[in-house]
Amino acid sequence: MSVVLETRGLTRRFGGLVAVNDVSFSLQKGELLALIGPNGAGKSTCFNMLMGQLKPTRGTVHLMGDEITGLTPRQIWRRGVGRTFQITGTYASMTVIENVQMALLSHHGQVFNILRYAHKMHRERAMALLEMVGMQAQAERHCAVLAYGDLKRLELAIALAHDPTLLLMDEPTAGMAPRERIALMKLTADIVRDQGVSVLFTEHDMDVVFAHAHRIMVLNRGELIADGNAEAIRNDPRVQEVYLGG
Ligand code: ADP
Ligand code: MG
Repeated sequence: MSVVLETRGLTRRFGGLVAVNDVSFSLQKGELLALIGPNGAGKSTCFNMLMGQLKPTRGTVHLMGDEITGLTPRQIWRRGVGRTFQITGTYASMTVIENVQMALLSHHGQVFNILRYAHKMHRERAMALLEMVGMQAQAERHCAVLAYGDLKRLELAIALAHDPTLLLMDEPTAGMAPRERIALMKLTADIVRDQGVSVLFTEHDMDVVFAHAHRIMVLNRGELIADGNAEAIRNDPRVQEVYLGG
């Protein structure tokens, strides 16, 4: 196994508040790793530091052995860290496949070609990506008419267009119904298995986490209090205390 991502002593303060406190973990190639914890635990702050949106107060982040601490979001993205974008990242006036073609143009640094070639380029690859997320039948539909769950799957295809080594997904299933949540995470697990991409995600729904994550880390008040498989996390007394409010 090779280490894709490693943090050491990752810390972020906001004034007097230590939102993330001395967090050290690593993520292996091909791993689907969940970061869970109550509201305000520091999950998004962690993600924002990993994506370069926020500078750590202390600590380091390494990607494939290279330090990326403090790089800009664009620099980190170019090193192969993908993320699922908000729904607003898709262009409602374009079709599903055109959105993926746009992402491929961007990945290949061909954005200048958009006006002339957007409808023609990378069509095969775009279709393959849509197949990966089970949306090939909807390729020619306009995004404006898509159901929310389908937009989420399209977002995943767009993120994969960048051929990421690591995909960061902060609450990818937010706003989805329970059945859709399970389906999206199952799809993500399949993609991790088949494409060799590694994923770090946050998720509220414990059924989803326990069903699909390979490993689970629990953050509470900025501190990592547990790290293990579903069985170990379920039986961890500190985790039970946090979740049952004991
Ligand atoms: P989570 O994603 O686990 O719900 P967050 O990382 O969003 O938690 O927040 C962790 C803590 O940091 C919270 O107490 C939150 O209010 C605080 N926080 C997050 N972002 C900021 C910010 N930009 N300025 C000040 N405090 C922040
Ligand atoms: Mg959050």
